Amino acid sequence: MRNILVLGATGSIGSQTLNVISKNADELNLIGISLYDDLTELPQILKKFPNLKYVWALHPDAKKYPQVTFVNSLEELASLPCDLVVCAIVGFAAFKPLVSAIKTKHNVALANKECLVAAGDYLNALVKKNKVSIYPIDSEHSALYQCLKGEDIKSVKRLIITASGGPFRDKKLSELKNVTVAEAIHHPTWKMGPKISIDSATLVNKGLEVMEAHYLFNLPYAKISVVIQKESIVHSLVEFVDGSIKAQLGVPNMEVPIQYALFSGEHHLKTDAYLDFNKPLDLHFMPIDEKRFKAVKLAYEAGEKGLSYPLVFNSSNEVAVQSFREGEMAFCDIVPVIEKCLAKHTPCKVSSYTDIIRVDEEARELALSIIKEAKK
Ligand code: NDP
Ligand code: MG
Repeated sequence: MRNILVLGATGSIGSQTLNVISKNADELNLIGISLYDDLTELPQILKKFPNLKYVWALHPDAKKYPQVTFVNSLEELASLPCDLVVCAIVGFAAFKPLVSAIKTKHNVALANKECLVAAGDYLNALVKKNKVSIYPIDSEHSALYQCLKGEDIKSVKRLIITASGGPFRDKKLSELKNVTVAEAIHHPTWKMGPKISIDSATLVNKGLEVMEAHYLFNLPYAKISVVIQKESIVHSLVEFVDGSIKAQLGVPNMEVPIQYALFSGEHHLKTDAYLDFNKPLDLHFMPIDEKRFKAVKLAYEAGEKGLSYPLVFNSSNEVAVQSFREGEMAFCDIVPVIEKCLAKHTPCKVSSYTDIIRVDEEARELALSIIKEAKK
């Protein structure tokens, strides 16, 4: 039996992770979860997982739930004894518990990409020092992980990350001016949380994923490319030096990469997600139009420059997405805010925990001031 802690259990990835755990109840045991500001799902979760003992929530309610222990912080939850921590909190808010999990020598199934982008070198050094493994949940990175398995990294010509292109792939740039939050959240092939859905619509998500791949697989940006794959069936590909290409395919169902990560990179039954080859299957690949989707180009530039650039890319995007969701700015201004932040900030090394926290705060202030200025 493997004891699992799930950080961000009420989210899109979190709830699908709980599904996977309950389908594999003979092998996986949920012992702790984090919620955020809403406890309404807790009774149902407790009913489904009687062994669940530890909970972190912003507003704990110990009297109502005497059967569980409310821990004092996310870091404390992430450091409890277990066999695997699933990190499915959205955004940089996952950084402190992620660090805590790794420092406790826990292996991590990682859905959160923002922390890896913001602090990739720091986290990689920590992973190495503590001799733990990171199993990617992000579908593209799970695909790359699978394609790279058993291969010599030196024989890799490039990683090819697929992108659906998001809900506005075929819209003219001029049509994006009055996009609403509801339209931006409506993804054509994946059902996800609001922040990543908006990131997919701006293609910032693909930019984050390029940097995520760089840190996960330790390859230079020149060996990472992006291609549009309309149907979200081919989850990513690896091209080798001899021109041979390996791809990972499957229906767009996050339970597949989640389960693969929960079993430390092994295939298991019980996901019910099969491609039907009795029907015609069309696969369309297209190059990405960098003019339309500047976010990907900006991500490559930020990644290549290194230092605090990737972190600022992430922090400014988080602020811009939040402002868009609150009706404070237009959808088409999200990427320009990132661009301005990257240009205006003073680059610096972000090698320590405190550097990372400080530069993230500064970048958020800068992004807010840019948004405020634009409104004048
Ligand atoms: P959701 O918004 O659906 O869920 C996020 C989870 O984090 C919820 O449990 C939420 O609680 C919790 N949370 C939010 N803010 C905080 C905070 N400040 N402190 C602690 N907990 C918090 O996100 P997703 O599940 O869509 O995404 C999670 C991560 O996985 C993201 O980094 C995303 O990029 C990545 N990912 C997601 C995919 C998907 O299909 N959804 C695919 C690949 C990667 P509450 O419900 O109370 O708000
Ligand atoms: Mg992805």
